[in-house]
Order: sequence, then structure tokens, then C-alpha cells
Amino acid sequence: MSKSIAFFFLIVVILAGAAVALFAMSSHTSLAFNPAPSTIGAATAIGVRIANPHGVRTITARIEQDGNSTIVDQETKPATRFTFWRTHAGPEIIHFIVGKDRASHLKEGKARVIVEVRSNDLRALTDTIAVDADVVLRPPSVTTDGFQHYINQGGSEFVLLTPTGSWQEAGVRVGPATFRSFPEPGQSPQRVSLFAYSWDTPPDTAPVVFASNGAGPEATAHFWFKVFPKKFRSRDLSIDDAFLEKVVNQIDPGGSGDLVTRFLKINGEVRRANNKTLSDLRLKTEPRFLWTQSFLQLAGSQVESAFADLRTYVYKGKKIDQQVHLGFDLATVQHGPVLAANDGKVIWAAPLGIYGNCIVVDHGLGLQSIYGHLSEIAVKEGEMVSRGQQMGKSGSTGLAGGDHLHFTMQVDGVQVNPVEWWDDHWINDHIRSRLKGP
Ligand SMILES: [Zn+2]
Repeated sequence: MSKSIAFFFLIVVILAGAAVALFAMSSHTSLAFNPAPSTIGAATAIGVRIANPHGVRTITARIEQDGNSTIVDQETKPATRFTFWRTHAGPEIIHFIVGKDRASHLKEGKARVIVEVRSNDLRALTDTIAVDADVVLRPPSVTTDGFQHYINQGGSEFVLLTPTGSWQEAGVRVGPATFRSFPEPGQSPQRVSLFAYSWDTPPDTAPVVFASNGAGPEATAHFWFKVFPKKFRSRDLSIDDAFLEKVVNQIDPGGSGDLVTRFLKINGEVRRANNKTLSDLRLKTEPRFLWTQSFLQLAGSQVESAFADLRTYVYKGKKIDQQVHLGFDLATVQHGPVLAANDGKVIWAAPLGIYGNCIVVDHGLGLQSIYGHLSEIAVKEGEMVSRGQQMGKSGSTGLAGGDHLHFTMQVDGVQVNPVEWWDDHWINDHIRSRLKGP
């Protein structure tokens, strides 16, 4: 065998080996609806989570009904057949619009949504995912309950609603705030919505239930309600250099400027960012209540500050800032036990700016309890806790002068007065008596 022929064979072997390797490195795509559509209207947005380490080349969405199949959306990406092994694509969520606007043959009844992807590698494997959904072409409409809704400004309220027609989102609006609804167990299609009437909502604001589908006008309905306006307290809070030193060094050690400037940043900007973090935790909620009994108020505690006190910060005789205190300050003893107010799931157990060492417990349907300034945290995120279980010890971490527990609750991300949730009668009148149960 001549040298050139041997060389030729060597090249063939290398190329074949490379092709086999590239072929073997090709992989399937994992697909999941995010979330799965239950109904489809004129133009319904659906999301699909796509994961393939090499990415995907084409994505096709089709809708099928009675033997008719229509491509409603298609996306093609540049192919990288032989260099795919150098790229590593993370999972992505692709959104499509499906519905009557894109597939004129659709009529009311069952239809199938099919998403097909081809992977971006040598074998270009095809994977599909499909889901059956109801085509509903009537516009959204919504009805609500016949209960009398007595609402405290700064408090919570609970309402039942039944959306029908083509709807995707349904819940309650109070001024600019939107509150989600969740299916009532065993009572489909009825839903429940827990909403907040925030302390700063003008008391003449009418809450409404709504149903919408992102295309066309939304449906709304009113329920009977009466708001009790609240007069919140004003308090002066004297602060000194020792307090400022402690706070700025603990919460914003790298900050610049004089003590007062650094404090004002913490009390304003950092406070707003921390409250946003708390509010965003609303998405980590269970679609059902995790509790049955009323919420516990820290036993034997002295209330040092009530919900929505307007605090004026006084330094060397001068008013330097004002903030609304959206919680209760409860003092017992130094490093006293901090107990879970009710059954739930820990969704935050870590330092959080002005709140110091902080725990947030989810109780379901967007209802969550918040515990701040702890000296010690004894639970982990993801852990289930039961009413009265010790979760840590009180302290003075974060924006706190002395040892106490800052306790508050939130409804779908809006902080509310916890007194209603401490009151078994209120819970009976506003929640339990309205739930038929499965
Ligand atoms: Zn506080």
C-alpha cells in the first residue's frame, strides 16, 4: 500500500470518527407547555419551554381540529450543524399566538395544539409536544358573589367569581392593583380571590372582579362592599449617632457620604428595594390555603408599633425623613422565640436589608407572613412549618433599635394589617363561611 493511499484511509477514518462523534453528541429536545393552555380564543398566547444543549433550528406551532391542520407560527434559526458542539444553549421559553385569528377553520369545541422542534445538530432530531384545549370564541364575562363585603382600609377581603367565555386572567382590581384568583377546589368553574385594600387606597375606590383574555375588552362585575376608612397614627422617632452608625454599617457598609445621607438612602431606596423583593415572593404561593386555624400573635408580646404608623425620623431636633411602617413591632424578651403564625411553607430565610435576618412563610392563595430583625434563623427555604413552631429568635438585625420582632402579612404582594388574620371571627365571617369546600 502506497503512502498516499494510507494517508487517504487515515483521513477517511478520522472524518468518519468525527461524524460518528458528532452524531452521538446530537440530542433530543425536552419540551413543556408553560403553562398548558386550557382554552383557546381568537388570539391566545401560549408558552413552550424548550431545552436542548445545542439549541433548536426550527420551531413550528400547529392547531388541528376535525382533520384540518394550520401552522399558526414558525421560527427558523440559522443552522450550525457541524459547530453545534461548541455552543451550549440554555433552556428558553418561546411564546406563540394560537387561535381563530390565525386558523379560520376553528370552531367551538376541542382542538389540539402541537409544537414541533428540530434540534440544531447533525441528526436534527424532531420532537413534538401536544395538548388538547377547548376553543371558546365567546368574549369573556364574569359574575361574582352576593355576599356583603365589609372592608377595612389597610386590610384584606375575599371574593368568589366565575369567569366564562374566552378568558385567560381573572381576579380583582383595586385601583391600580391587580390580585389573582385561584380555582375553588371542587367548585369549578368558580374561583376565589384574596385581595388587599392597601392602607393608601382612597376609601372611595370600588373594587371590581374582572376576566380578560389579552385581546379585546375585559369583562368586569361589581359586588356589594363598604369600606371603613382608618386613621393611621403619626409617631416621632428620635434617632442618634449610635443608631445611625449601627444601621449604616450593618445594612450598607460600602455606602458613601455622611451618616445622615447614608441613613436616608437605606430608609428610602433600600427600603423600596426590600419591599419589592418581598412583593415578588407573591409568585411563590400554593394555589390552596395551607392552614385552617387563625394566625398566632406572638404570645405575651408588647405592641411597640402598629400597622401603617407614619413615622417621622428626628435627628438632633430636626425632622429628616418620613416613612410608613407597614407592620407590627412586637417585643418580648431578648432573643425570644419567633413562632410560625400558621401552617405554611418557608419561601425566604435570609438577610434582607432593613428587615435584617428575615423569614417569609407562604400560607397559600397569595397570603404570606413576614418576620424581621431576627438574631437567628432556624428554618430553611422550602421547609414546611406548622402553627406555633419555633423558626428562630428575635433580635435587632437590620433597621432596628432594640430587640423585637417586626411582623407583617401580605396578600398577593401588598402588605396588609395582620389584626384581621389574628381574629378567628373575622376569618369565619370573611373566609370560611364563603367556602363551600370540595
Ligand atoms: Zn418594624
